[in-house]
Amino acid sequence: MIRFRLSQQHLNRLESCPRQFQHADLEGSISPKSSDLEERIAWGERFHLLMQQRELGLPIAALMAEEPQLEEAFRGLMAAAPELFQPPERGGIWRDAEHHRRLSFGEYLLVAVYDLLIAGEKEAQIIDWKTYPRPKDRTALANNWQTRLYLYLLVETSDYSPEQVSMTYWFVRSSRKSPPEKATFSYDRQTHRKTEQDLRNLCDRLGDDLNRYERGEPFPQVDEASGMCRSCPFARRCDRAPETDRGSADETALPRGISDIKEIPI
Ligand code: SF4
Repeated sequence: MIRFRLSQQHLNRLESCPRQFQHADLEGSISPKSSDLEERIAWGERFHLLMQQRELGLPIAALMAEEPQLEEAFRGLMAAAPELFQPPERGGIWRDAEHHRRLSFGEYLLVAVYDLLIAGEKEAQIIDWKTYPRPKDRTALANNWQTRLYLYLLVETSDYSPEQVSMTYWFVRSSRKSPPEKATFSYDRQTHRKTEQDLRNLCDRLGDDLNRYERGEPFPQVDEASGMCRSCPFARRCDRAPETDRGSADETALPRGISDIKEIPI
């Protein structure tokens, strides 16, 4: 029996602080978002919709006409990466937007949704749209569970070898001064084995934490010295908020589906 469905967001939370996973994913609580963040998430969702509609051959002119910034980002991406705008099927290449992959992994189901998968006979590329500027820290991007899980799942659920797959993030929110930028990650057997081992370790630890949680024990907390609690929305609940913030609003109960928000900044 599958005990939990794990996305990259769950894995990131489990790795950084298991107690955060407890609050956000088991108990369905999250902090209210600032209106600025709400707007950025909504913009990201509209961009994803635009790209999905284009891939399906549906009209996109009306969407772009409503929002010049959307059109600007779309045209900027087209100019920077014309290869991404090829017809859906050509010469043995197959493309699919919002492509779902899942894999049973012990008691868990690993899940991913690729914004775009471009699959040929000998290689496959996972494409992910990001609507914020490219992070400077490439290592953090490589180590993020989105990169690791997405590549792992593609290899495990296809005939491609690790060396035949790659993942590219396109940071699309451009202006004339800053065109879209990309970050591409290749893959290999050694990285694949390491990812598998890390997934096993994380899932084993989750199993133990879930068993203890069912007996009434909370999930472990990150070391306070890490500094992570200072910016965590659950700091009050964990009794780790700075004195000055103790009177501010706490997190609000929301449905579990909140973890399926399309795009969380890495
Ligand atoms: S406040 Fe600290 S311990 Fe609590 S969930 Fe956030 S990061 Fe984890």
